[in-house]
Amino acid sequence: MTNIKSRRKTRNFSNRGTSSGFKRRSKKSKKFSSAINPSLLIKEAVIAEQTKFTPSQSFDQMPVNFKLKANLRNKGYGFPTQIQQETLEPLIAGRDLVGVAETGTGKTGAFLIPIIENLLNDPHQNTSLIVVPTRELALQIEEEFKSLTRGLRLFSCTFIGGTSVGRDLSRLRKQNHVIIGTPGRLLDLTNRGSLRLEEISILVLDEFDRMLDMGFINDIKKLIRSMSRRRQTMLFSATMDNTQKTLINSILKNSLEVKVSSGNTSSDNVEQDVIRVPQEQDKFNMLLNLLDDDSFEKVLIFAETKRLVDKVSKRLNQSGVATEHIHGNKTQNYRNKALNKFKKGQVQVLVATDVAARGIDVIDITHVINYQIPLTFESYIHRIGRTGRAGKIGKAFTFVDAA
Ligand code: AMP
Repeated sequence: MTNIKSRRKTRNFSNRGTSSGFKRRSKKSKKFSSAINPSLLIKEAVIAEQTKFTPSQSFDQMPVNFKLKANLRNKGYGFPTQIQQETLEPLIAGRDLVGVAETGTGKTGAFLIPIIENLLNDPHQNTSLIVVPTRELALQIEEEFKSLTRGLRLFSCTFIGGTSVGRDLSRLRKQNHVIIGTPGRLLDLTNRGSLRLEEISILVLDEFDRMLDMGFINDIKKLIRSMSRRRQTMLFSATMDNTQKTLINSILKNSLEVKVSSGNTSSDNVEQDVIRVPQEQDKFNMLLNLLDDDSFEKVLIFAETKRLVDKVSKRLNQSGVATEHIHGNKTQNYRNKALNKFKKGQVQVLVATDVAARGIDVIDITHVINYQIPLTFESYIHRIGRTGRAGKIGKAFTFVDAA
């Protein structure tokens, strides 16, 4: 990290909560309105011991094929996480499920491990479709699937926007046990008659509250209607929207609900605070001051609009902070490269719109900064869930306009 952080030296930042310690002149920042009460965004992290889950058995003791056990061991997954432990057996038995667990608690494994187990028992009957809201999440799930199935001759494909349809069509001519994708591209391939949804028996909606909201629900309904042989449906998310209950019941049959968190509180592992921005101060300079602190090693900054993401990223680079950025207008190739640089620690900061808010698993993000207060509390929870993962303590700061 030293190469990245050898710019200016630490200035104090002390206007968290209510006070203000910045002296720079402002270009008045545009006010951004939100329904979230800033007091909800201040929270101490709970010490890890208090929230720690003790697994009752190791993967070796669970009803899992020995080849899969070996791959789990190779990945360093000795014991299941709580959501994995509580859902494994019902999912292997074919139950429909609603799984709610905080971000970073192993939800991907919770649905992939039983899918792989059932594929090993019957590779011809169990094709799965995993539908997710963002392209990055789709690629990440495929990566996890590939590492869990190393040497098992189980095949997967990811179909997402911003990539070559021609390549997708040729991939669909080969055998796929697991198909992962975003709704638009999946529907496109279905409409072309290339993706045959009636041959798929298992459906997973990851980040299901997002998949069932207004932006996606029509596409999801179309996909579900074509899945005439759907035998099992799994819904996973960190947050649950109670207004979706009826819709969920119409999709699932005799389902089990497993909640390992309430689904509406923010992550216990994340210390949260607000930074009040007085009108006369320049928010960007306040951000620079924050980033000067040595503890801000790997920082994900969220902004609401693509334009603002571009602008903040450009200004950070101009100020000597190694920064990448991603949003919906960037090509998939660009987004992958930017995310990889951030993952590998080649840049200190990634600035993003909500495309990065859900599911993205980058190890060791030290801080999440909301450059603007998000529009919904759900969005806030997903964003701050990018830090404080796998039992670590993370920090989240949200800039709010001082009253
Ligand atoms: P997820 O919530 O699926 O994004 O997973 C969060 C992180 O936990 C990822 O880095 C996973 O590789 C890791 N993980 C998932 N399951 C386990 C497990 N059983 N043991 C150790 N790490 C895990």
